[in-house]
Amino acid sequence: MGLEEYKGVFVFAQQVDNELSGIAFELLGKAKDLAKDLDTDVTAVLVGSDVKGLVDDLAKYGADKVIVVDDPELKDYRTEPYTHALASVINEYKPEIMLVGATAIGRDLGPRVSARVATGLTADCTVLEIGDFPLNPIPGKEQKHNQLLMTRPAFGGNTIATIACPDNRPQMATVRPGVMQKIDPIEGAKAEVIEFNPGFTPNDKYVEILDVVKSVSDVVDIMDAKILVSGGRGVGEEGFAMLRELADVLGGEVSCSRAVVDNGWQPKDLQVGQTGKTVRPNVYFAIGISGAIQHVAGMEESDIIIAINKDETAPIFDVADYGIVGDLNKIVPALTEKLKAV
Ligand code: FAD
Repeated sequence: MGLEEYKGVFVFAQQVDNELSGIAFELLGKAKDLAKDLDTDVTAVLVGSDVKGLVDDLAKYGADKVIVVDDPELKDYRTEPYTHALASVINEYKPEIMLVGATAIGRDLGPRVSARVATGLTADCTVLEIGDFPLNPIPGKEQKHNQLLMTRPAFGGNTIATIACPDNRPQMATVRPGVMQKIDPIEGAKAEVIEFNPGFTPNDKYVEILDVVKSVSDVVDIMDAKILVSGGRGVGEEGFAMLRELADVLGGEVSCSRAVVDNGWQPKDLQVGQTGKTVRPNVYFAIGISGAIQHVAGMEESDIIIAINKDETAPIFDVADYGIVGDLNKIVPALTEKLKAV
């Protein structure tokens, strides 16, 4: 079968406990852009048990079609039945592009599915676009058009690699949560629903889940915060109380750099950056943070970046919209007092 027979942009619509994960909507937003460039449509693949109630939400956020794989075997995420379900969908419907979130589930599922359907996978992408590959013509080498160009940090974030999969289909990528943007909901939108049964038999031997223990954490997810007051090594362990006060006045949350986590001053959940979380708040305060490339990778899409640093040559000022050069121990309390008075 020729590559041209593969059509459509497919998105794995991750759900947990019958609730769609944010990444499902983010991927649909990106899929809509890609589908427009390729003049094709967007299909969400919804895998789970008793999940049909989620179809309208997927339509609202950009799915033209929803393939529903509904089976009691698929109630909780398990590698084998989910791999079987998604690989069977791909074999049956032959998408040109298959996107999966780079979540804990997607990082497990994506590579297994790509191996099962014998195609490549680019993991942890931060940019996806349609273009020519190779990017520039090379004498003697065919330049293919309308390829999915998948971009991701490589070599510890020191370089950015753009990768394509010109000879196999589907072109598969896992995509970092928090990077792509969901579309504004289209009220009343309806999707074509296709029910698909990949066939589970009682003889299938899968890992058995005996108990599910949910982690209980009172830490807020920084990816949802509209205002982040982020501290780096320059803040020091004690200084985070001062940042918390500023965050409270602003109705925001505290986050941090990796240096802070490595020092054991704040939990890993609060780390922003390449090996932490990607955030996109309305306002991001970078306080006592130098602006290393691995940190910037996780916050540069923030609407407004305000940096406070005593070193005027700190790279954080290159991405900041507003910069204050000075001692954070004087500036932060003064700022907090001013804001309290407003
Ligand atoms: P520093 O670089 O030490 O900067 C401290 C800053 O505070 C300085 O600019 C200093 O001028 C300023 N300062 C000090 N005192 C004051 C004061 N009184 N007033 C004002 N300013 C002051 N980093 C991340 O953050 N997130 C990641 O996800 C991440 N992933 C990584 C992955 C890899 C593979 C690697 C190799 C590195 C990664 N890093 C990551 C680490 C990154 O390279 C930097 O080491 C780290 O971001 C530095 O943290 P920092 O800016 O808090 O500390």
